[in-house]
Amino acid sequence: MPEPVLPGAAHAGDGTVSRPAGHLPQVGEVLAVCAHPDDESFGLGAVLGALSDQATTARVLCFTHGEASTLGETGRFLGEVRAGELAAAAAVLGVEEVALLGYADGHLGEVPLEELAQQVEEASGSAEVLLVFDEGGITGHPDHCAATAAALLAARRRRLPVLAWAVPEQVARTLNAEHGTSFLGRRDAELDIVVAVDRHRQRQAIACHASQSTDNPVLWRRLELSGATETLRWLRPPPRVEKTPEHTADSLGFDGRA
Ligand SMILES: [Zn+2]
Repeated sequence: MPEPVLPGAAHAGDGTVSRPAGHLPQVGEVLAVCAHPDDESFGLGAVLGALSDQATTARVLCFTHGEASTLGETGRFLGEVRAGELAAAAAVLGVEEVALLGYADGHLGEVPLEELAQQVEEASGSAEVLLVFDEGGITGHPDHCAATAAALLAARRRRLPVLAWAVPEQVARTLNAEHGTSFLGRRDAELDIVVAVDRHRQRQAIACHASQSTDNPVLWRRLELSGATETLRWLRPPPRVEKTPEHTADSLGFDGRA
């Protein structure tokens, strides 16, 4: 794969400048932990597609059926519609398996974190990395924050690295100015991975979520602003391993910052 063009360099805490890694973790299996059907596509879709392309098995744990959405009222129980949309989107993204739980949409933050973390632990199986939304829930949505917090607690117990999909500061600033949204952006120095992605499959997966994507200008504008790259940060980095005296990498094959 050609080296992606990286927007800026990361600034390490010691004052040196190092570049974020340009590829995803080279692991056998990843579990994505989401709050709602569509999070795996609208948020993580390009990353999940790229993982599947590199032969990493991706599975998804989704806590709610997304039944509280104000979009896509069809007369049918929205949660059922969205469960079907999630299954179709997962197939497009090459996701191996989806575990869809029945917690109440919009109230995930009221469920004891311990209980949610237990669900993540049970679903984690042989996953080597958990993939989540950034701390702050990308948009501050309490369900997103709860899903990420649950993954972090489960990961601490199982000693798993946690990789978060994040939105660059400039993208967040533009969206917030144009749409009055509350995206939480990250500075270059906070990003550990900047990876080139092909959004074709993500767009196909998004199309599966017709109830949520047809009238969603913020989503389309975010994808446009993000271009052909996704940005991620380690919330729990993989352990570092010393390979040779002059070459240090982390255990998932990254040079430089981890
Ligand atoms: Zn969501």
